[in-house]
Amino acid sequence: MQFSELGLSPKVLGAVEKAGFVTPTPIQAGAIPPALARKDVLGLAQTGSGKTAAFVLPMLSLLETGRARARIPRTLILEPTRELAAQVQEAFERIGQAHRLNVALLIGGVSFDDQAAKIDRGADVVIATPGRLLDHFERGRLLLTGVEMLVIDEADRMLDMGFIPDIERICKLLPFTRQTLFFSATMPPEIQRITNQFLHAPVRVEVSPPSSTAATIEQKLVKAPSDAKLKREALRRLLKSQTNVKNAIVFANRKTTVGVLEASLKRHGFNAAALHGDMDQRARLRTLDSFRAGEITFLIASDVAARGLDIPEVSHVFNYDVPIHAEDYVHRVGRTGRAGREGHAFMLATNAESKYVKAIEQLIRKTIAVDGSPAPAETETSGDEAEQPRRRRGKPAGGERHKPAAAARPPREERQPREEKQLRDDKPPREERQPRAEKPHGGAQQRREKPARDRRPSPSGDVPDSDGFHSGNMPAFLSRPVRSA
Ligand code: AMP
Repeated sequence: MQFSELGLSPKVLGAVEKAGFVTPTPIQAGAIPPALARKDVLGLAQTGSGKTAAFVLPMLSLLETGRARARIPRTLILEPTRELAAQVQEAFERIGQAHRLNVALLIGGVSFDDQAAKIDRGADVVIATPGRLLDHFERGRLLLTGVEMLVIDEADRMLDMGFIPDIERICKLLPFTRQTLFFSATMPPEIQRITNQFLHAPVRVEVSPPSSTAATIEQKLVKAPSDAKLKREALRRLLKSQTNVKNAIVFANRKTTVGVLEASLKRHGFNAAALHGDMDQRARLRTLDSFRAGEITFLIASDVAARGLDIPEVSHVFNYDVPIHAEDYVHRVGRTGRAGREGHAFMLATNAESKYVKAIEQLIRKTIAVDGSPAPAETETSGDEAEQPRRRRGKPAGGERHKPAAAARPPREERQPREEKQLRDDKPPREERQPRAEKPHGGAQQRREKPARDRRPSPSGDVPDSDGFHSGNMPAFLSRPVRSA
């Protein structure tokens, strides 16, 4: 399949060529023709699949005719996080260079008035996080009645972050006749419900399931002590042992851990910088730019960054913590080994984290080899077993319940992402709502998940060894042979 066969306009085909895309990815080949035929599309695809161009290219075609009017945008792209929104804007402006469109980015953390001025001039495209979009709407700075095409990106992430009521509200404010392109990596029931309600006879395009990791990624487990200081030491040893690191992301579960790791790694001479939800927008984008430019080797990130970072090549992913949600592992590891390239993913695992490791192995249908031991054969899980965690998206790995998205919710703008909900014991989330400051009400605070730390199993009965390892009930994965050298 060639781009020229998809029905794109000559101008868009020129843009594709300029972007250096030679053949369409499966999501592009599947989604672009129905999108150009003005049909609704339900795309099951994850970051790295080329889904951004799958909606940007037909949108460019659509925008070639007609003009935007003041305060009435013609198309709308909703993203769950500021980073994703900023990256989509960047992609849009890069691919759509020749189209000279007016793109407005409506996200928290940056000036409200500058954004409003952009809409006043007539926006062809609004790229927004749901909260900030509704803020503009409520202030009367924007009308949604002219939207011809709506893109909802990373819908399952929206669900995780509690944005579904906002999405429902926005959908109701849009013309019934609009076209909707809806993308999600998974289809939990709540997302299914939304698609039933707001998509009209969508063409479903499904590409590589989110429960798999690329075969080109070398995945290894490294046993780690639970003592934080010793664990950091283990991380440093691991980083030093990898001589072929070009650039890497080090993932941690807690934002405070991200901060501690950044300071510690820098102190030990590593070229490292942190990226997490507490940084202001400019600092985040600056860090991302430096990382992309190769000025930073180790990006230390929380799960906010796990999805959507548009970094074409990351040689290594290091999981400092085992992610509590098995699917986060797939997303984290998906930062490396993209497009058939070789990638390396290492995961430090303490004794107490073994149940999360097991859930990950079940999800990806692979046993992750302990570093230094030969790669084990694929686990013989039946398709049904392996599918289960995918269907139960939203439940943490290890079988604990994730609270359903329900009535009482925190105020929407810049609602803290799931990881930060889990990490309430670190520090109350900074009130980021700008400029309309609303404090999270009590109900919302109570809804937040128990801190990850609290939900972890206590290694009761285990006595730490001198090197910090627990000796009792050593799970199988930790007792596998480890490289001696
Ligand atoms: P996405 O899944 O949209 O985040 O895209 C992941 C990466 O793939 C981005 O760096 C895109 O620029 C790149 N990309 C998208 N489509 C293609 C294509 N058809 N050929 C090559 N690279 C692509």
